[in-house]
Amino acid sequence: MCHAFLTDANFYQLLTRIDESIAEEVRAGGCRCGGRLHSARYPRKPRGLRSALDASYERRLSFCCARDGCRRRSTPASVRFLGRKVYLGVMVVLLTALHHGLTAQRRRRLIEQLDVPAQTLWRWRRWWRERFVQSRCWRALAGQLIPPLVSDRLPGSLLERLSGSALSERLVELLVLLSPVTTATGSLRVGGNPQRM
Ligand SMILES: [Zn+2]
Repeated sequence: MCHAFLTDANFYQLLTRIDESIAEEVRAGGCRCGGRLHSARYPRKPRGLRSALDASYERRLSFCCARDGCRRRSTPASVRFLGRKVYLGVMVVLLTALHHGLTAQRRRRLIEQLDVPAQTLWRWRRWWRERFVQSRCWRALAGQLIPPLVSDRLPGSLLERLSGSALSERLVELLVLLSPVTTATGSLRVGGNPQRM
C-alpha cells in the first residue's frame, strides 16, 4: 500500500479548496439576522506533516456578521480541522481507523513522525466510540447505511464502506461526511478539554 498522498502538498490543497467552497456557501447565505458576513478567520497551528502544509493551514475559515448589535460568528464546516483537535482531521481518522486505514507499519511510523502521545490516541478512540456516535451527524449518516455499520469499529468501518478506489479518495469522502461535526450547529458537546485532543 502506498501512502504518498500523506506528504503530497496537492492532497492538502485539495482539502483547502473543499473548505473554501463550503465557506463560500456559508458567506453567500449571510447571517441569520440578514446581515452580511465578513471574513474573521482565526489562527490554527495544526499538527500534521507540516512540510506538506501551506499557509492556508494557519487559518480556519470563519465569518462574523457585519451588523452592529449582532456580530454573530459563523464558522463553516471543515474537512481539514476536526473541531478543536490540534491534529489535522485526516491524521485523527487515519490513526484511529485501525484495520482499514494504514498498514500497521505505516501507522507506527506516522505516530512517531507526528509524535502523537499514546494518551491522545486513546482519547481519540474514545471520542469515536462515545461522542461521535451521539452526534447528529452520525445519526443522520448511520440511518442511510445499508447494511448498518458496526459503530464500535469507527472510523475504519466507515472508511471501508466508501467507494473511492484509493485510500486518499476514501479519506476525502469521509472527511466531507464528517464535516458537520466541525460546526457549532452539527457539533457534539465535547467534554473535558477539547483543545488538548
Ligand atoms: Zn447577524
